[in-house]
Amino acid sequence: MYQQDWPYPLEWDKEEVIQSEVLILGGGIAGCMAAIAAARQGLQVVLVEKGATKRSGAGGSGCDHWESAATNPCSKVTPEELAKAMLEDNDGFNNGISHYIECREGYDRLLDIEKLGGKIRDTEDAFKGAEFRDERTKLMFAYDYENKYTIRIWGSTFKPAMYNELKRLGVKIYDRIMITSLLTEDGKQGGRCVGATGIHTRTGKFYIFKSNASVMCMSRPARVWLFSAALPGLCEFRPTQCIGDGHAMGWRAGAEFTMMEKSVGAEFSASGKSYPPYGAGNNHNTWYAASLIDSNGKEVPYADRDGNILEGVSDRFKPAKGQRFFMKGGNIDNPKYAYEGPETLPLSKMVEEGYKLPFYADLSALPDHERKVIWGMMIGEEGKTKIPIYKNYKDAGFDPEKHVIQCYGRGWTSASFLPQERQLFGLPGGFLNDWSLSTNLAGLYVAGDSLFASNCFGHAATTGYYAGRHAAEFAQENGLMEIDLKQINNEKARVYAPLKNDPHNSIGWKELNMGIAKTMQNYCGEVKRNELLNIGLSLLKEYEETVIPNTFAYNPHELVRLLEVFDILTVSQIILQSCLARDTSSKPLCFHRGDSKETDIDKNNQFITVKQVDNQVHIGRLSLNYFGDLKENYEKNNKDYIGGGNYDAR
Ligand SMILES: Cc1cc2nc3c(=O)[nH]c(=O)nc-3n(C[C@H](O)[C@H](O)[C@H](O)COP(=O)(O)OP(=O)(O)OC[C@H]3O[C@@H](n4cnc5c(N)ncnc54)[C@H](O)[C@@H]3O)c2cc1C
Repeated sequence: MYQQDWPYPLEWDKEEVIQSEVLILGGGIAGCMAAIAAARQGLQVVLVEKGATKRSGAGGSGCDHWESAATNPCSKVTPEELAKAMLEDNDGFNNGISHYIECREGYDRLLDIEKLGGKIRDTEDAFKGAEFRDERTKLMFAYDYENKYTIRIWGSTFKPAMYNELKRLGVKIYDRIMITSLLTEDGKQGGRCVGATGIHTRTGKFYIFKSNASVMCMSRPARVWLFSAALPGLCEFRPTQCIGDGHAMGWRAGAEFTMMEKSVGAEFSASGKSYPPYGAGNNHNTWYAASLIDSNGKEVPYADRDGNILEGVSDRFKPAKGQRFFMKGGNIDNPKYAYEGPETLPLSKMVEEGYKLPFYADLSALPDHERKVIWGMMIGEEGKTKIPIYKNYKDAGFDPEKHVIQCYGRGWTSASFLPQERQLFGLPGGFLNDWSLSTNLAGLYVAGDSLFASNCFGHAATTGYYAGRHAAEFAQENGLMEIDLKQINNEKARVYAPLKNDPHNSIGWKELNMGIAKTMQNYCGEVKRNELLNIGLSLLKEYEETVIPNTFAYNPHELVRLLEVFDILTVSQIILQSCLARDTSSKPLCFHRGDSKETDIDKNNQFITVKQVDNQVHIGRLSLNYFGDLKENYEKNNKDYIGGGNYDAR
């Protein structure tokens, strides 16, 4: 679409300066909760969001389960036990600080959200008598029915409730603005963060946000290896507007990252290859513990941790004999604590054992409450399923009492991927944090999926709230600083450059994204070698120097898409640099080196950190236990919170 057909006024030449005490970058789950925490302390808060805050982000349209509500009145697991299990399940390559916060404050935030209007209990008694329901509190649990620390929620009610609270607290919300850069003291890399810049996604207007403190809440990168020009909206699991802008601008500003060398083999909702999330029959998260059958109707049995076949449906929700509790959901990569489901067997083995493809999820075989909670509630409330799956399948005649849903092969993917097609999925790398959820840049805090080893709604809400209150403390002690005009002018030149390039000789965002994805597949695939990684880096450099100057945007939409792909390129560079820095293979990081046989365990078992100083890459190493004792350090850093009204709100 050309500029003259654009339906909004074009304001390329306009600029607005906005001041705040706390600036929230991204209005998803973490961003909304960060803003609420800071505003509750009486500070002036500005929240900037690329989409529309009321429904934006991965959790905007829904969420069906809240993990880690370890302090809820029915839980038999302590925050310490749960956080320890999360660390062990990932062989220590996990964010002890953020997940302890999640376990410790998870239920507090749920109660908060309930007070704002979110639904967390079966108040209509629709599931009265169900094994997973606590009759006194009306809370409903998922997965481990004995230990009761994961709560089924009506997540589609949460984001509007948060949004109304932001309004009530007087948070100034700037929707449809893409943040493009962080501003630093004297414009220096590594300096204190003093604000950010942005452009309006409809008018192209330039914004300068000045603030005492900022909170990074822009989620995590995507489309690094996986891109389909035909189906860009289905390229990855998370929403299209979350592609790692925050990581890219953090890198340019000198922020420190860790675990960025971790990537997993693609398996789920990617590049238009698989069904929409949770749209194929499976027995994972939302669909746990649906029965799976083969095309002869033969059931695939569930087995417990120790490989014992489980006879009844009810046993699927109990820990194995001698097992303290079991984990399911998003916080695990190597599910040592989980049930072994049929999906964990290789397909060839199943065929050998006489199963006949394809497989189907069979809800009709489940007890009534289990069937209704999966099909009615979980599928209705999960991130992207309310309309595409629940409504559309129902409208097409799907009846869970009669019909089964096909998945070709294993579990939830129903698609096969090449080994070099990878994703930042599960618990990938991200911003490094300390106990106040501050980054290494003074004044810049971080929460939610932007954090390293992050995942899940409850994690985002708790770390958001936590970062918001620590950022508010910083803002009370540190005032506004002058912004550096040169930094602003350089950023303006950068973001508007594609408007000025030659339209006849131009490359669009899709071509560039495809080029980067292919480069990453070829040179940073399953097996890493320095030679390949270095070729990848030089190709990306070439794109920076020769392709980016030949990109062209007709209107703000195309400009924003291009700026996102420039950020994907920067994220790819962070990944390649991190891979080069790790010179031995690491199983928990799914990192396999083809050019090193070294097995120095001490060297392997460390976080590798990367950042830029004077535009040069600096590598560091950090102990996996850099956060120390979780309970002790949490309590040392959160005396006001523990002593205040929130902690014992239940
Ligand atoms: C389909 C699906 C199902 C899920 N199901 C569950 C579940 O059942 N249970 C569970 O615990 N978790 C679930 N998750 C994960 C959970 O939703 C996320 O972990 C959580 O939403 C992360 O919160 P966040 O605030 O970090 O990111 P988001 O909620 O994604 O918010 C990030 C925000 O940043 C904005 N943004 C990005 N870039 C910019 C920019 N440059 N400028 C301004 N704004 C920007 C985005 O528009 C977005 O609003 C699911 C995720 C998906 C995608």
